[in-house]
Amino acid sequence: MANARVALAFLSFLPAAPRQPDGEADGATRAEVFDEDLDRAVRAFQQSRGLSVDGIIGPDTARSLEEARHGLGDRLLYHAPSQPLIGDDVAALQERLSNMGFDVGRSDGIFGPRTESAVRDFQRNRGLEPDGRCGPHTLRELKRLERTVTGGRPDMLRESVRLLVRGPSLLGMLVAIDAGHGGDDQGVVAHGLTERDVVADLARRLEARLVSSGLETFWVHSDDESPDEAERARRANDQGADLLVSLHVDASDSPKAEGISCYYFGNARGSSAVGERLAALIQKELVSRTDLVDCWTHAKTWDLLRRTTMPAVRIEVGYLTNTRDAAALGSADYRANVAEAILAAIQRLYLPPEQDPPTGQLRVPRVATPS
Ligand SMILES: [Zn+2]
Repeated sequence: MANARVALAFLSFLPAAPRQPDGEADGATRAEVFDEDLDRAVRAFQQSRGLSVDGIIGPDTARSLEEARHGLGDRLLYHAPSQPLIGDDVAALQERLSNMGFDVGRSDGIFGPRTESAVRDFQRNRGLEPDGRCGPHTLRELKRLERTVTGGRPDMLRESVRLLVRGPSLLGMLVAIDAGHGGDDQGVVAHGLTERDVVADLARRLEARLVSSGLETFWVHSDDESPDEAERARRANDQGADLLVSLHVDASDSPKAEGISCYYFGNARGSSAVGERLAALIQKELVSRTDLVDCWTHAKTWDLLRRTTMPAVRIEVGYLTNTRDAAALGSADYRANVAEAILAAIQRLYLPPEQDPPTGQLRVPRVATPS
C-alpha cells in the first residue's frame, strides 16, 4: 500500500506527504493505513483511467499505476514480442506519431508491431536509421517536428474510414465470438443457472444467426477452457476478426441490481470510435427487444477491449443474481432475442445514416446456404 501512495502522489492524485493522524505513534504502520484520502485518490485515479471505480487496488489498478509511471523519454521503447512494453510513454509516442499522420492503429499504450512499423516509417521519413526503436535521436526528432494538432484524433477516425470502405454488405465478415467463461470457470452461479452455460448457449445462438446471414464466425475458445483476456484478444487478433463480441452476465450482492450494459475500449484520452458506436447500437437493440433495464454503455480499459485490434464490445446481458433477469436469461425466447439484437446492431453499424432503420425494427435477411 505504501507503494500505491507513492505512485498516486507522483501522479498528483494524492498530496506528497501522507496525512498524520493525531496520537499515532508508529510511522511504518501509519503508511499502511488505508485512509479516506487514499481511498478517494484511488477512486479518482480509476475514474481517469477507465477502470472499475471501487477504491480497491486490484490487479488492473496496480497495473495501471505501474504504467502511468513511465513518461516519454524515460526508457528506450521498442517491440519486444514476448513481453510488449506497455505504458503512458508508449501511448504518448503513439499519439505523436498518429498526429503526424503515421499509422499506429489505436493509441493503446502497447508497443506492438504496428507501432514499430510506424516508428520505422517516421525514421525513414526523417533520414534516421530505421531500426523501429524509439531512443534519444528519434525522440529529439519527434519533439522538433511536433505540431500541435487539436481536436482530431486521426487514429480514431481511421477506424471509421475502414467502415465506410467495407460498405453495408455483411457477407464474409468475420466476427469473433467470446463466451465469457468455460471449463471449470463457471462465472456467476445463481437461481439454478451458471453464467458459463448461459453464455455458451447464447454464443451458439449468435453464431447460428450470424452464419445464416452470411457472416463468418470465429470461436475464441472451446467449451472446456477459459483463457485469460490477453490470450482471448491474441487469438482474435491472429484470426484477423473484423469485430469481437464478448458475452457475460452480471452479478451483484444486491438482488435488486438488474439490467443490461455494454462496454467498449476507452478512457479519458479517447475511445474506439467504432467500438463505442457498436456498443451503443447493441445496447439500444437489446433494450428495445427485451424488457430488461437499460444500464447504458461504458468505456473501459479491460484487457480484452484494450488488446484487441478490432472494435470489441463486452455485453452483460442481465444480472443472474436478480430474480426477473434470471428468469429471462433462462428462457429460450430471451436468448433468441439477444442473438437477433446483436445481429441487427452489427448490420446497422455498416449502414449509411440515411439507410439506418429505427431501433428494434431491422430484420436481417437469411442468405441461401448451399445444400
Ligand atoms: Zn463473466
